[in-house]
Amino acid sequence: MAWIPRGLRDGVVTSRYPRRADGYGPDFFGHVEVAPGSGDDREAVSAAAGACPTRAIALDGGRVRLDRGRCVLCGRCVALAPDTFRADPGFETAAFSRRALVVPDGEGDDAEVADARMKLARRVRVLRRSVNVRHVDAGSDGSEEWEIAALTNPVYDIQRLGVFFTASPKHADLLLVTGAGSAGMQGPLRQTYDLMPHPKVVIAVGVDTSSGGMVGESYAARGGVGQFVPVDVFVPGSPPSPFGILHGIVEAVGILGSRRHVGAEAPATRTAK
Ligand code: SF4
Repeated sequence: MAWIPRGLRDGVVTSRYPRRADGYGPDFFGHVEVAPGSGDDREAVSAAAGACPTRAIALDGGRVRLDRGRCVLCGRCVALAPDTFRADPGFETAAFSRRALVVPDGEGDDAEVADARMKLARRVRVLRRSVNVRHVDAGSDGSEEWEIAALTNPVYDIQRLGVFFTASPKHADLLLVTGAGSAGMQGPLRQTYDLMPHPKVVIAVGVDTSSGGMVGESYAARGGVGQFVPVDVFVPGSPPSPFGILHGIVEAVGILGSRRHVGAEAPATRTAK
């Protein structure tokens, strides 16, 4: 019976994101930011690049590039070269192209991102009232699955946005993929995609889907899923938080249209839905 006083004390804890900012946003280690003019301290940057477990950092002619599609958010670079790398909070990190995950270069390519966003928005116009999601694990370590499962709990309650999980690809509008693209799952992943009706959207969840993450490319995996299905939105992180995945879904299917980037604002008051 302890849940009764607890429920009365806490009230409704269901998030209002994306309609309102959520207080959890600033608590997440969302991504690594590269400071402008970085690369001056070559020794520290080289040490960080050497310590990076996924080779996400490259030093090219004095410029530092960081591939968020490889970054597993271990924090080593931040500790070794704090003048160059900064751990930024927030969870709104989804990107409309693989290139956009490479910073600072990809971030500046606004035309490509705007074009990808516009084409996707046209394609999914009919999906905004209700979206059915099919999830395929293409060689995941299981961490993304925990975060995806959390989307249906009372805190995230993804059903309130008209988003539902389905077991059949024939009923699915959106394909949520996790994993590094293991050899055994390449065929089933493609079959799932082919069976989905048009229009269909693909979201790659976690850095394993972008680059293979810690697994990389090997005899057993192909370093991501992009060569097997056309990915529309990449959600970095290892694993991304449920809010990060929710942000990817909201962006991909245009839920709430023009609402943008409220996740890092001041905490919202938790009241009834
Ligand atoms: S935080 Fe990311 S970029 Fe930095 S060392 Fe870890 S994996 Fe590499």
